[in-house]
Amino acid sequence: MTEMIEVRGVTKAFGGVIANNEISVDVPEGRITGLIGPNGSGKTTLFNSIVGYHPIDRGSVKFEGREISDMRVQQIARLGLLRTFQQTRIYSKMNGVQNMLISLPHHSETYKSMFQKYPPEVTEKAERLLDFVGLYQKRLLISGELSFGQQKLLEFAMALMNEPRVLLLDEPTAGINPTLINGLIDRLKSASSELGVTLFVIEHNMSVIMTLADNIYCLANGRVLAHGAPDEIQNDQRVINAYLGGHYIADDGDDGEN
Ligand code: ADP
Ligand code: MG
Repeated sequence: MTEMIEVRGVTKAFGGVIANNEISVDVPEGRITGLIGPNGSGKTTLFNSIVGYHPIDRGSVKFEGREISDMRVQQIARLGLLRTFQQTRIYSKMNGVQNMLISLPHHSETYKSMFQKYPPEVTEKAERLLDFVGLYQKRLLISGELSFGQQKLLEFAMALMNEPRVLLLDEPTAGINPTLINGLIDRLKSASSELGVTLFVIEHNMSVIMTLADNIYCLANGRVLAHGAPDEIQNDQRVINAYLGGHYIADDGDDGEN
């Protein structure tokens, strides 16, 4: 099995808080790897550490065998490693196609000249991906008019527009109506199986991650508490304790409201 991402001994502290403490994680190619853990356990920080959002204090991060821990976000993104955020980042006054185009790397041009510059195949690609996430009919609608779940799907399509090899998703189902969650899970699975994108997904909802991921890491107090197949994780007493507010959270001194 080829590892797309290899994290070794990554440590990141904020003042006195050790958000990531000697974390080692592998993200295998073509699979869906899950990342769970109580609030404040260090999940988002680990994503930030991987994609170069902040410098790490110690450790190594490799992407396709290449050390990236000294690189910045844009440089890492160009290699094909992208992440999405807990909060949606779309332009609500632009329509779906425009948001797709604006998600591509661009520099000094104004939006208008940028849109004119794109060859038809780029617009077609945007439309194809909007179709992939089920938003083709709504592609010309101002994005602020989309439901929250549809905005999440658009954001997912925007990430795919950049043809990532690996996509890190931070709580993709957060705030989505439960009836729409299955549709999103389905799209994530298709991105993996049809588009060949390797996924690493933070998810708070246990039942979602159990259906989505084929292997799962559980963090607690900035450390890897457990790693295994979904059924192993689900039945792991340490994981259950961490989620039920057992001593793994208690000695944190942080109720993780963030
Ligand atoms: P999770 O995503 O698992 O909820 P985070 O990675 O966001 O957890 O946070 C882990 C710990 O690091 C928390 O105690 C949080 O308060 C702290 N933390 C995260 N980011 C920052 C930051 N930029 N500055 C200070 N503390 C931070
Ligand atoms: Mg988080």
